Amino acid sequence: MDHVHFRRGRLTGFVSPVCQPGKGCLRTIACKGAECRQKLPVAHHPVLPVSSAAMGSNGSPQFTSGTKIIPAGVLLIPIDTKVCPHPTSWGRTVIVAAHPDDEVLALGGHFRTVHPRIFHLTNGAGFLPIPSLAHRRAEEVKKALAMGGIASRSFSAGVVPDQGVAAAIPALVQRLKAFTDRVRADCMVTHSFEGGHPDHDAASVICQLVGQGRMPIYEFTSYHNATPYSPQSSLRTNQFLRLVTPEMTVLLSERQRRLKQRMLKCFRSQAEFLGRFSITEERFRIAPRYCYAKPPHEGTLLYESFGWRINYLAWWSAVESALKEMGVSLHV
Ligand SMILES: [Zn+2]
Repeated sequence: MDHVHFRRGRLTGFVSPVCQPGKGCLRTIACKGAECRQKLPVAHHPVLPVSSAAMGSNGSPQFTSGTKIIPAGVLLIPIDTKVCPHPTSWGRTVIVAAHPDDEVLALGGHFRTVHPRIFHLTNGAGFLPIPSLAHRRAEEVKKALAMGGIASRSFSAGVVPDQGVAAAIPALVQRLKAFTDRVRADCMVTHSFEGGHPDHDAASVICQLVGQGRMPIYEFTSYHNATPYSPQSSLRTNQFLRLVTPEMTVLLSERQRRLKQRMLKCFRSQAEFLGRFSITEERFRIAPRYCYAKPPHEGTLLYESFGWRINYLAWWSAVESALKEMGVSLHV
């Protein structure tokens, strides 16, 4: 097997990706470089042709800085070798968060230095049969954002119910486009595609549709299933599903942690769940290009273990319908 290195924060080396029968296009590449012992899991991607010029002398695709390598008939390595810049250098940042509280978990420690604009996709209620939940969550987020110094004009409240994002993609794309234009966004930061929550995964789709070719898209960590092959799912927080592009981990100062903790405490309706997240660091990366036509990982997705009505197939069917309706494609 060929190898991939991390050298000064950039990926170098070679890889020979092969789509494994029955396993989709997911595999782990073991690095055999002397200076690097880590394994680099590779995500699946659409099949596209590759020019022979992109192939290394050993017949394997070769990573070079800033080059996307697409092996013929196999898979695209979602490679962006640049290290994610520090949030304070992102410029006018729009956090695209699926639910109230996601934005604080994502970037709360940086609110007073980044001054993000915040776009919510949902009102955080709707699935649970509690009529007042939407109102309660709106009050909670209002209080938290005020604490973080976010002005009300920098905030767009969510309009669809929890678990409803995939079914509302065309309308949400329009709203987000208008919002990013209004605030003159330099970049967006959102959830990764990891099967933790269907709205998180749909947020990733929406940001690709709005931002691809227009502005950088970064990702923050949310949560996913740490035991996808076990009948009992378990929550993994504060980490990306797999290493795809170099990550930026920022250890929060004592002051940043205190602010984040205070803001999280505003979300009293979510207190138990939020207690499962670490507030010592925040982690970001440049969003890779995903193949949403396949599940983000094998086994059971976290949200599929909750007994909700939505599973991956229903989610993808909604996304596919939205893409058809909009007449767009997400292929790289
Ligand atoms: Zn969420």
